[in-house]
Amino acid sequence: LYNIVQDLKGNIRVYCRIRPPLNTSVQNIIDFIGSDGSLVVIDPLKPQKDGKKLFQFNRVFGPTSTQDEVFRDTQPLIRSVMDGYNVCIFAYGQTGSGKTHTMSGPPCGSANEFGICYLAINDLFELSAQRKDIIKYEIKVQMVEIYNEQVRDLLTEDSASSKYPFTFRHSAFFKLLLLLIWLKKTSSLTMDTLEIRSCVSDDSLVLPDATLRKVKSTIDVINLMKLGEVNRALGSTAINIRSSRSHSVLTVHVQGEDVTGGNILRSCLHLVDLAGSERVDKSEVSGDGLKEAQYINKSLSCLGDVITSLAQKNSHIPYRNSKLTLLLQNSLGGNAKTLMFAHVSPEGDSFGETMGTLKFAQRVSTV
Ligand code: ADP
Ligand code: MG
Repeated sequence: LYNIVQDLKGNIRVYCRIRPPLNTSVQNIIDFIGSDGSLVVIDPLKPQKDGKKLFQFNRVFGPTSTQDEVFRDTQPLIRSVMDGYNVCIFAYGQTGSGKTHTMSGPPCGSANEFGICYLAINDLFELSAQRKDIIKYEIKVQMVEIYNEQVRDLLTEDSASSKYPFTFRHSAFFKLLLLLIWLKKTSSLTMDTLEIRSCVSDDSLVLPDATLRKVKSTIDVINLMKLGEVNRALGSTAINIRSSRSHSVLTVHVQGEDVTGGNILRSCLHLVDLAGSERVDKSEVSGDGLKEAQYINKSLSCLGDVITSLAQKNSHIPYRNSKLTLLLQNSLGGNAKTLMFAHVSPEGDSFGETMGTLKFAQRVSTV
């Protein structure tokens, strides 16, 4: 049923979400938001008619949109995972535009601020409970980051828990822990790089060595995501910088077994918080920063190329050009469903980046 609803809308969808202004003294460049998915942006230097640019997406969420509204709109797509469809949800945009807010919610936020990751998995548990007499579901979670074209496991216990033998249940405590890690930022902790198994048949895992955790409740998921965040911070030299320079991929593996016939369906939901899409001024960056910027530009443009090729039904899809697209190969194209959230900042000083994001989003959009 969820699938029928979705098929009517196509397999690739692009939504735009506008963050509320953080600085109200700066000019707001969002001129118009239409209920039909249209958006008009105004150039702060050319406020006349020729400075207005129109974009069209499947939907636009304005600055007052709530986490719940955004989730409600993605719920049928997420639910199709329980019917055997692979789904990818991406958050794209410059650093500070609200990607993590949409996907995870604010760090240590309250329940009504939870992002798609929590709400989605919670919903999958609910659906699994509703269907328990017909299908027996098993839900497992994996979380990795891609940094400089290397894939790292974020759910390994070795790095976080053995070094800091605490539980991650309390948010105040978690904050303290992050502070501790921040202070230990020079620690030379290294995480192993994972191999992606390419050309896999549908049943085998793309990342055979990544930690796969069975989850039974939302609390399990919250704890795992906190572990993931701690591991992500541990491997970095500075928490904020690293998280905006790497892609984080939370994968929910669903296996459903028909209680009568023994038919098994397997599918996965990938929830991807992409690295910041901002252009780095090449003259200002050297060494590590330049390398990071080049890797990010390359992988984001590869992602754009793959989605565009899929939308145009090309015979060759360039999955192999980046780790991200290689990792998600089985879940991009075919019967899989893709949703891209293009996040934009409304302030005048973000005009260039906002236009860059909207043009990228328009390119991958099929509307
Ligand atoms: P990104 O992950 O793209 O770098 P964040 O999600 O961290 O951006 O958002 C930057 C800041 O703006 C954070 O303080 C976040 O809480 C806030 N923010 C982003 N989107 C929203 C929103 N829709 N409503 C309220 N606050 C938001
Ligand atoms: Mg972020």
